[in-house]
Amino acid sequence: MKIGILGGGQLGRMLIQEALKYDDEFYTLDPASDAPCHMISYFTQGSFNDYETVLNFGQDKDVVTIEIEHVNADALSELENRGVKVVPNAKIVKTIQQKILQKEFYKAHDIPSPDFQAIWNHDEEITIPLPFVQKMNTGGYDGKGVQLIKNEADLQNVWKEASVIENLVDIEKELSVIVARNESGETKAFPVTEMVADPKLNLLDFNICPVLLDEEVEQQIHSITEKFLNAINSPGLFAIELFLDKKGKVWVNETAPRLHNSGHQSQEGNANSQFEQMYRVVKNLPLADTDAIIYSGMLNLVGSEGYTGKVIYKGMEEVMKLPETYIHLYGKTETKPGRKMGHINVLAESREELMEKLVKVKEMVRVIAE
Ligand code: ADP
Repeated sequence: MKIGILGGGQLGRMLIQEALKYDDEFYTLDPASDAPCHMISYFTQGSFNDYETVLNFGQDKDVVTIEIEHVNADALSELENRGVKVVPNAKIVKTIQQKILQKEFYKAHDIPSPDFQAIWNHDEEITIPLPFVQKMNTGGYDGKGVQLIKNEADLQNVWKEASVIENLVDIEKELSVIVARNESGETKAFPVTEMVADPKLNLLDFNICPVLLDEEVEQQIHSITEKFLNAINSPGLFAIELFLDKKGKVWVNETAPRLHNSGHQSQEGNANSQFEQMYRVVKNLPLADTDAIIYSGMLNLVGSEGYTGKVIYKGMEEVMKLPETYIHLYGKTETKPGRKMGHINVLAESREELMEKLVKVKEMVRVIAE
């Protein structure tokens, strides 16, 4: 089967890496000539935001999927009209692309998400009480496009663009659950993972699995995933990012219609990875079993501050000497501050042991430049 992927980044790369054990042809489209997928797939250099480029890329494929959501969704609709299978479908991609539509979708389907006000026109009066969070309607990524407005003085910083103004949640834990649905309607969720964010960069730091949660909290998450999977009306793999607040209530922060950084530990920690699951979704195959085998965790390898240029992974050979520690690099030759260059997965017998190992590995390795 000819499988086309919009985006040629690390998510696509790891999908292809997993799926090469089956018999398919992978095609990728990315604006960067040295994108992580360029040497492991039939690669087209071009913009996944451009209508004609996406149409030309997709029209001779059996199925087109995405590894980034900021793609031209009108072109996806047109591909659907022309009989190309698109996973996830254009409609859900369009909804998720815009924070306002995404929030309205949760509201319409009774999925708990922080109260919000949609701001289309920046002259509108803000009715959500301070402190609040502002999120750009489009273009937000990796914590950019999100800001906290704490007090009256901060009000002058409010972005004058289409955005969502959202109640601030008193966060106890940030959780994520990856769910999948195939065309036949079969659904499956991965065990919940917990994200521990770096307060400075807002980039995911550690991600660990499984998380011990009260049965009542598990129940809320189960209800959210069920409602979500019933509402989307599309095959796909989705990462639902959740907040557990200090009172024990679960809220949906946002959803990504694709593979996700919070699922990387599944590569060694679960019976099957999110990449295996995505492959099965794309081909409408029976969904894979997702059980956690053991405690697992992931840390991102992110370009250090102050280094730009040809990448060096300092301390990597020491990391390789550790048992149950797995390095995944994304094939990016140039590092810059904050750039995701790879990740390391670690397995352990307990949560305590896992945290110790993750902290140790984090201290051993640094992403710098020549
Ligand atoms: P991105 O998609 O760029 O990662 P998010 O919407 O996930 O943006 O927001 C980034 C971070 O900001 C979240 O991980 C969380 O820590 C914080 N945040 C976002 N929305 C809220 C909220 N309503 N209340 C409290 N913190 C929030």
